[in-house]
Amino acid sequence: MFTAEQVKEAVAINNIRIVPIRDCSLCGYELSYRFANDKVYFDSGCDCVSYYSPPQERSWQELARYLNNNPDYTDLHAKFGL
Ligand SMILES: [Zn+2]
Repeated sequence: MFTAEQVKEAVAINNIRIVPIRDCSLCGYELSYRFANDKVYFDSGCDCVSYYSPPQERSWQELARYLNNNPDYTDLHAKFGL
């Protein structure tokens, strides 16, 4: 299981810019977590399901929880070196 600290460190060390979540089933826009300045943002990019909202800051805990709940993302786990 990843901790928030591990994920944050791995993102910095591996210079990870984006963690794709899934494509919007309507327009194909890639929903993702993105990173900037030691912070996590959730990019919900398109406005198919709800009104458009700019990337919102989220917690490292949330991202760690997301990764822990998606063990089938083996490439991602490898990328994180965890
Ligand atoms: Zn869309």
